[in-house]
Amino acid sequence: MSKTAIITGSGRGIGAAIAKRLAKDGFNIVINELSEEAGQQTAEECRALGIKAAVYAADVSDYAQCEEMVKKAKEEFGTLDVLVNNAGITRDGLLLRMSEENYDAVIRINQKSVFNMTKLVGAIMLRQKSGSIVNLASVAGLYGNPGQMNYSASKGAVIAMTKTAAKELGSRGIRVNAVAPGFIQTPMTDKLTDEQKNAILGQIAMKRYGQPEEIANVVAFLCGEDSSYVTGQIIEISGGLSM
Ligand code: NAP
Repeated sequence: MSKTAIITGSGRGIGAAIAKRLAKDGFNIVINELSEEAGQQTAEECRALGIKAAVYAADVSDYAQCEEMVKKAKEEFGTLDVLVNNAGITRDGLLLRMSEENYDAVIRINQKSVFNMTKLVGAIMLRQKSGSIVNLASVAGLYGNPGQMNYSASKGAVIAMTKTAAKELGSRGIRVNAVAPGFIQTPMTDKLTDEQKNAILGQIAMKRYGQPEEIANVVAFLCGEDSSYVTGQIIEISGGLSM
């Protein structure tokens, strides 16, 4: 197989697990990070699985940087068959204490990046008449979460963008889906206090956090042929956080 997947924010955490899982499935891998250095270890682990991998630095909230990265990736790999919009940040705080700067930063990185990358890679997929796009939403985007007005808004928007893109691109053979993880053990959730972690565990039916690989497995299903008639769907992966 010489299909290529581009995964944003894939130097660590869930993005790195997705890159390695897709490499195992035979995809060539384009790793994106804020700096090239930050993606090198994931790239080496992907290459060890026998595929081609490259790292391109770009801030995905910046359209011009995305344009440059997608151009380079297309030149280097020939096709772009899978896009995983994974890069994301948190800047938590209760609404009345949340700064405008922290609100805007989360919207720009979590939400506008999805517009930037879907528009640019979507144009290539349209010409190919095939492709699969998977967005990382969150349970916060489905149900809201105290202290995450900015993050919940960005992920709610990602859910709406997933459905809109699925409706616009479906007739051209391009599928667009999202996963909505609950609490997954990564550097993003390591920042929570013990009190916050215990409160969250109490609400999870399976009484444990998820692992990045458990997200990657579902993303791989959505990227591959086994989900060929699935589009516009949001799959919650939360160990039964809400039912
Ligand atoms: P993480 O460990 O913090 O990793 C996020 C990655 O995104 C990092 O590699 C980071 O790069 C990169 N990134 C941040 N801003 C970027 C930008 N402007 N341009 C390019 N790359 C950027 O987070 P994670 O837990 O793996 O989360 C991955 C995705 O899953 C996010 O969209 C997150 O919202 C979503 N999610 C996570 C959880 C969870 O419980 N962990 C739950 C629901 C949804 P640097 O290393 O340079 O900062």
